[in-house]
Amino acid sequence: MPYTQFMATLVCVPIMVTDEASALRDAAAARDAGADMVEFRVDDSFAGAGDEEDAARVARLASRSPLPCILTCRPTWEGGHYDGDDDVRVAMFERACVGLQSGEHAPRYIDVELAAYNRSDNLRLKVNLCVDPRESEHATGLILSSHDFNSRPADLTRRMLSMRSHETSRVHKVAFRARSLRDNIELFELLRHADRPMIALGMGEFGLMSRVLAPKFGAFLTFASLRDSTATAPGQPTVAQLLETYRFRSIRASTRMYGVIGWPVSHSLSPRIHNAGFGELGIDAVYLPMPIGAGVTPKDNDASLKATLSELIEYSPLDFSGCSVTIPHKESLVRIARELGWEVDASAAMIGAANTVVIAREGERVRVRIFNSDAPAAIESIKSATEGGSIAGLTIGVVGAGGAGRAVAFGSAMAGATPIIFNRDRARAEELANAVVTATGVSARAEAWEGMAGAACDVWVNCTPLGMSNGPAPETLAIPGSALSRGAIVLDTVYTPRETPLVKAARECGCRVVEGLEMFVRQAAIQFEAWTGMPAPMGTIRRTVMAALTPAEG
Ligand code: NAP
Repeated sequence: MPYTQFMATLVCVPIMVTDEASALRDAAAARDAGADMVEFRVDDSFAGAGDEEDAARVARLASRSPLPCILTCRPTWEGGHYDGDDDVRVAMFERACVGLQSGEHAPRYIDVELAAYNRSDNLRLKVNLCVDPRESEHATGLILSSHDFNSRPADLTRRMLSMRSHETSRVHKVAFRARSLRDNIELFELLRHADRPMIALGMGEFGLMSRVLAPKFGAFLTFASLRDSTATAPGQPTVAQLLETYRFRSIRASTRMYGVIGWPVSHSLSPRIHNAGFGELGIDAVYLPMPIGAGVTPKDNDASLKATLSELIEYSPLDFSGCSVTIPHKESLVRIARELGWEVDASAAMIGAANTVVIAREGERVRVRIFNSDAPAAIESIKSATEGGSIAGLTIGVVGAGGAGRAVAFGSAMAGATPIIFNRDRARAEELANAVVTATGVSARAEAWEGMAGAACDVWVNCTPLGMSNGPAPETLAIPGSALSRGAIVLDTVYTPRETPLVKAARECGCRVVEGLEMFVRQAAIQFEAWTGMPAPMGTIRRTVMAALTPAEG
């Protein structure tokens, strides 16, 4: 019989114990940050002598914890640091659970690896004497766990059956390295069909979904770190990210999932802004980074995007309802949408790139639609700097002929302006200009990259990464100063930093400047409205973007 969790999913902070004082300080900080439980990993501190005094120290630590705790002494063969004798670590568990001295109390849980528990009758017998299978605040429960740090274990089903055969365990834990977003689905299925409280987590960047959506699938707990551990534990959010950005406490079975697909995607601002928007309007939804690797060829890219998107859409318990799509998948999205018979809106078809997927479910029927919000966002941003709100008749210098350049060129032409395209690779500029003329009938032309210096345009739009921090040339001015005439409108689509070399130079030349974050906010708002049917909370979105970009400037 599947088990149904009625309690809220707990947030547990793992603490690698080096000494008692710092472990207790971290546990108090975890409590203050909003966590419900801590896991004391004593495999390092207990690895030394492992004598009675060591065991007494561990018992004292568990007793003094300001939050209910899990006590774990993970051996090296299961990815931990303890390489001592099993008898010694079991004696430590006995001391902490049943050998208590006056004033001490037992840990809420101990975690023992399924492999150790199965391997030795003696260990099993002793562990069983430490724990009580019945839910109780006063007796220690057993978490039987199984980890694979490389990939999904081939014998996962066998491991699950073995766990279930042991009546003594109160909680089951499975954690393996997720190799793609699709691995999360199997973890969710384990949770949905669990026969008792369960933890099912994907390690690594691809597993973040399993950690954040744990309450949606009734998990017993999820782990979150106290400090940013992106470098050492990618995919493990901090308590603050989990509770504030992802609004973990409001996630429930009905919560719809959205996200941003790209590679790399872990630094995207989109999760912050869409989650803030959902929070502001009380929408039962959460938005996650969704990494999908870049293929070596466009064909590889299409194949991995198609496989992952299709599987996530088909898995109805996920309530996957839409996503943003960014580099390098925007063009693949149009190709796979055509192949799968999804609706492709006219401008996405023309541009050949899309950045938004909207998934509507009516009973069994799933309707998928894609469109491009970059083009209207760029054009609306430019219009906001004009006197009359129109760009008809203006010449638009489009610098770059990639995804953003295509969106701006087609968007300008459709708004009655004349795009002039400058691209490092001239042939690509020519190809785009011809495509614009063919599709819209508006005059458009390509000019030499070097010709920019002497060109005169009413509006300039930088659609290259020039000037972007961490980009190919952060100090480079994307458009020569000689082209920036007083009164011209300049939109730099780059928004990290806010004050790019182009923004700075354009201000000094007396241009009307539109920052890239204006376009970014608008494209996000268009997506938000398409997904929710509600007006986007612009104030919240703008504030969130500003707050996120401010430290990057410093
Ligand atoms: P993309 O498809 O990869 O195109 C990159 C373009 O930049 C190409 O035209 C490329 O020229 C050019 N380029 C790259 N490195 C260059 C260099 N060192 N010197 C001169 N030209 C160079 O990328 P994308 O999607 O169009 O994005 C481009 C920029 O737009 C990004 O920086 C992104 O931040 C920004 N963007 C902003 C928003 C927003 O909402 N504000 C939205 C979308 C994009 P070649 O063809 O010669 O390689």
